[in-house]
Amino acid sequence: SEMCIRDRIMETIILKFGCTSVGSTDRISAVANIIKAASDEATPVVVVSAMSGETNRLIDLANSFGSEPNKREFDALVSTGEKVSASLVAIALHQIGLKAKSLSAAQVGMKTTANFSRAKILDLDKEVIFKTIEDGYIPIITGFQGITSDGDTTTMGRGGSDTTAVAIAASMQAKRCDIYTDVDGIYTTDPRIVPNAKKLDSINIEEMLELSGQGAKVMQIRAVEFANKYKVLVRVLSSFEPGSGTLILQEENAMEDAVITGIASQKDQTKFTLHGVGDTPGIASGILSPVSDAGIEVDVIVQNVSVSGKTDFTFTVGTADRDEVESVLKEKMQGISYDELIINEAIGKVSLVGVGMRSHAGIASTAFNALADAGINIQMISTSEIKITIVIAVDQLDQAVKTLHAAFNLGD
Ligand code: ASP
Ligand code: MG
Repeated sequence: SEMCIRDRIMETIILKFGCTSVGSTDRISAVANIIKAASDEATPVVVVSAMSGETNRLIDLANSFGSEPNKREFDALVSTGEKVSASLVAIALHQIGLKAKSLSAAQVGMKTTANFSRAKILDLDKEVIFKTIEDGYIPIITGFQGITSDGDTTTMGRGGSDTTAVAIAASMQAKRCDIYTDVDGIYTTDPRIVPNAKKLDSINIEEMLELSGQGAKVMQIRAVEFANKYKVLVRVLSSFEPGSGTLILQEENAMEDAVITGIASQKDQTKFTLHGVGDTPGIASGILSPVSDAGIEVDVIVQNVSVSGKTDFTFTVGTADRDEVESVLKEKMQGISYDELIINEAIGKVSLVGVGMRSHAGIASTAFNALADAGINIQMISTSEIKITIVIAVDQLDQAVKTLHAAFNLGD
């Protein structure tokens, strides 16, 4: 009966292949073989992003007529890379004897908001995907792209195909969402900074959220948020070499009781200090509300103890937002008096993340002692339940990561 067929194919597994994984026809052949092997475990549903370099090439083309190209046409253009790779993967599968169908965002009803280049997924038509499977085809779905209720093409921001994959996994209640990439998993820190960084077999999703938010670039942060919200089991693994990758678990892993799970660092940070602010109620909102109204995310915030009615107020933003923050502060702050605005672009952030922090004391002092012994001056500190973020001079950032990684014995 129809119900039985549906039950049998209900067990799906989403396989997402990013840019380098589909970067050449050889890589696409390798991907076809991975898909074939995965079909032993469950029914594969594939999501692809554009071949490496293609999205950048399309963006450059769009910008060759002047800055700020028409937003609708920009998205219509940059979304085309995903159509190319979806069809190529389907062609490669046919050549090894598997039936496959490429499906665009329009074909799977991937409805998004109308914010071009930053569109958010609202809904998708999973029945089209199930029907494709029932008809005997492996669905190969274009990541990154969506359509508005008017049928216009949108895109979801760089790295958006991760979010497409997790959204489809959530909607189809897939067994797992495998994100194939060019690294073999999530590491304790960036192995280019610390060569003995260790691959993690698993990581808790809250830790993954914090690490992604603090500069770890393995998955788009929106995809991690989606996985957290809809309880999707995600795995990150390599399409270049065999291996079990890193599972992103919804629950804490009782087996590994490391206090710190990972360390992330971010360059390109700018510190704004308003020196000599009159210390009256409402200064924090007076300074930061216009910044957040401009859609700019503020990270570490510190207000000093005031001396004779005046204080210093300091916060960090990504350097990409530096100019906008400066003009917002100069033009939009109402009723805030200050002596001087100091802008420091030579800073970076290092963050220690671990759910084990909840139950262990003394993490912060271990970190601070290690940095002091290495002669690294701490400029700002912010903490949450499972994260400590430290702002330091950017030229000491890599050294700080190495020092902390060693201090908490995270290496192999
Ligand atoms: N091709 C798009 C990009 O380069 C989407 C993705 O790779 O996930 O951002
Ligand atoms: Mg990507």
